[in-house]
Amino acid sequence: MAARILNGNQIRDQIYAELGQEIAALANQGIRPGLTAVLVGENPASHLYVKSKIAACEKLGLFSELLRPPATLSTLDLLAVVDELNARDDVDGILVQLPLPPQVDSKKILEAVDPAKDVDGFHPVNIGKLVAGRPGLVACTPLGVMEILRRSAIPLEGANAVVMGRSDIVGKPMALLLMHAHATVTVCHSKTRNLPEVTRRGDIVVAAMGRAAMVTTDYIRPGATVIDVGQNVITDTAQAERIFARYPKKLEEFHTKGTVLVGDVHPDVAEVAGAITPVPGGVGPLTIAMLMSNTVKAARLRRAGAAERAHLQRVSGS
Ligand code: NAP
Repeated sequence: MAARILNGNQIRDQIYAELGQEIAALANQGIRPGLTAVLVGENPASHLYVKSKIAACEKLGLFSELLRPPATLSTLDLLAVVDELNARDDVDGILVQLPLPPQVDSKKILEAVDPAKDVDGFHPVNIGKLVAGRPGLVACTPLGVMEILRRSAIPLEGANAVVMGRSDIVGKPMALLLMHAHATVTVCHSKTRNLPEVTRRGDIVVAAMGRAAMVTTDYIRPGATVIDVGQNVITDTAQAERIFARYPKKLEEFHTKGTVLVGDVHPDVAEVAGAITPVPGGVGPLTIAMLMSNTVKAARLRRAGAAERAHLQRVSGS
């Protein structure tokens, strides 16, 4: 039986509708959440990502700004940019688009971002809070996956969840979020033995490896929920023909454009899974939605919190 398709665009629209209400409530307090993106260099994929993030801010009525420092800048130059943004009250979220040029120490830059404005959730303070199960800003992609699972009523408590990939930005935070939701979590990586045997134990399988269509039907227990985080651009004709042999529409798309986007999960898996996210239109839209959500949350915690404290001080006369 064909899997239920978990439509990320629909879930994103629900989240935007809810955020719209929160943004209106903040506007009543004179607060307009703001995101500043810092884009260094000419990486075409980074350009595209930042453009979509700015467009999402505009759609929701958030303040947004794009800084384009020169690609030749040093770590110290970029630290100065981050310091300035940390000090500005109108900036709630700071997004330093990765990858940075090789002469820049990316870790130093990410650690310089004020944790209260770290809407990517990459700062060690926020990662520590996630480990400890305390409120903080959490990485957008795994947070988006949790929204898909919860809003699609996929049972998590006691479920076996298998995360394929252990990166700092997807795999590790994903495993922690699932564990906090009371799933029993297994994390796989490139050294895992008998991978299909391990993943077949999963009631939920999250694939985040960056390996085009690697997860085939033998990796998945019939009826399992499959979340495909992978975003792989295929440009090789033989590879496209191999993956999409039974999907003429996708092959046609490849032959027309010369490229096609495929996840880490083979399209045939939709025939055995109980539920599955498509690529595109699954996890991708949620990543940007959660960036918007984190920006609004950062504004609420930092500025509305300050306004509330000031109000409490006034009424208590202290
Ligand atoms: P990454 O940093 O390259 O990490 C990949 C992980 O997968 C590593 O832990 C690696 O294991 C593991 N892995 C690689 N090959 C494997 C194999 N053959 N078997 C088992 N594990 C394997 O990648 P990432 O940044 O987490 O991103 C993963 C994918 O998600 C990429 O396709 C990326 O484009 C996509 N992504 C999508 C979104 C979105 O919005 N949809 C956002 C972020 C990322 P080791 O640790 O042993 O090397």
